[in-house]
Amino acid sequence: MSEKARENDLELLDTDKISQIEKALDLKYIKTVNECLIFDSPARGTWPQREVAVPIDGAIEILQAIDRGAERMAEHEGWIDPEKGFAEFEVNQHGINAFRPQSISKFKFEIHPCSHAHAFDPPFARDESRDHISTVIRVTSRDGSTCIEISPNSALCIPLTSHEREQVRTQRTLKVYFGGATERSELLSRSRDLANSFLFELNARHRCPYSLRPKRESLSPRPRRGAIAYTVRFPKTPVPNNIATLFSIPSDFTIRGNHTLFYLSYYQVLEHYLPAIHRRETVRKVRRILRSLDFDEEKDSSVLQILNSVERSRGASEGDQLRILVEECVQEGKLQEFFALDHGSHFGNKGPISGIPAINLKSGESLASQVAKRIYMLRNRIVHAKDDARYAESKVLLPLSREAMRLYPDIELIRVLAIEVIADNR
Ligand SMILES: [Zn+2]
Repeated sequence: MSEKARENDLELLDTDKISQIEKALDLKYIKTVNECLIFDSPARGTWPQREVAVPIDGAIEILQAIDRGAERMAEHEGWIDPEKGFAEFEVNQHGINAFRPQSISKFKFEIHPCSHAHAFDPPFARDESRDHISTVIRVTSRDGSTCIEISPNSALCIPLTSHEREQVRTQRTLKVYFGGATERSELLSRSRDLANSFLFELNARHRCPYSLRPKRESLSPRPRRGAIAYTVRFPKTPVPNNIATLFSIPSDFTIRGNHTLFYLSYYQVLEHYLPAIHRRETVRKVRRILRSLDFDEEKDSSVLQILNSVERSRGASEGDQLRILVEECVQEGKLQEFFALDHGSHFGNKGPISGIPAINLKSGESLASQVAKRIYMLRNRIVHAKDDARYAESKVLLPLSREAMRLYPDIELIRVLAIEVIADNR
């Protein structure tokens, strides 16, 4: 950028403009360094990011887009620009795929003349200044009105990388170009449908798996965890091998962000102990009958009491068994301690996870019973237990959905339960 152009750009970026960018990107401006605006990023997910940099020319383009009514999408990382009839999605690329520079020449792309201004044409995008080549995939509808493209990002989807890295990086994004100005909600739904359809075929026909990147949520409030111990001891807790594996999954860096998997891993720990706890509870009840003063083995009614107790126990649903597990194995104090932490309104009536019961410390119902209901219904929403008519109404909670991204406090809760249950059953 020339010195003069740079000064012009800097003048354009007054406080108002910068706060527009802050709002659009959900970041907090700190300073301007080396032709980049530096922002502070809130902790995203469980991974705090440090400062991120947006080049000044990119910032100007973002401002221009905002001015003509462009906005960030709510469900995915990306932008819609209704005036231009344009949508851009950030994508995750999984593994090495066939559209890499070495092999992309093998492919032919269905392209027709169109009216859009494309920055690159397939199959290559050359970045002279960085001496870098990346690939461009594009297809056009037969009438030339619509193009779908996967190529290096526009200014709108600049990767938010740490400014300590030497250069501003690029990322591949999926862009949908329509024939002209398109109404906001129509643009959103039509571009998403086309993107899903295109990505499905890239995967199914070419084994090139990409996925739309779900919105990174800044979690507010920040996740609350209980205190950690500062004395490291020689271990006393025997842990069965499969339980050890399940318990370690949510801490695995390589699959971070997969909240529903984390939730189910801890749930499976609880599930493992259900039969044993259930047996223990049944035996305890039968023993209580046997020991009662009026038990008489000669009387049918006495023997039937045992039979009924066992039958009732056999008929117990997984939800009932789970309640017994929590009541039997989890100290009430641990639950009170957990809910004494500030989880914002996560566990309240207006919490971000729909279709599961809130936790109300003032209701007459025991915490164990409330917690058991909540974690069981949440589990049902994740695995979508269609065979249970009671939950047929509740919507499936998809991995990487907005709700999944906000599961963190529930994952912490079920982690507390898993630890308690493992410790109780040693
Ligand atoms: Zn086009």
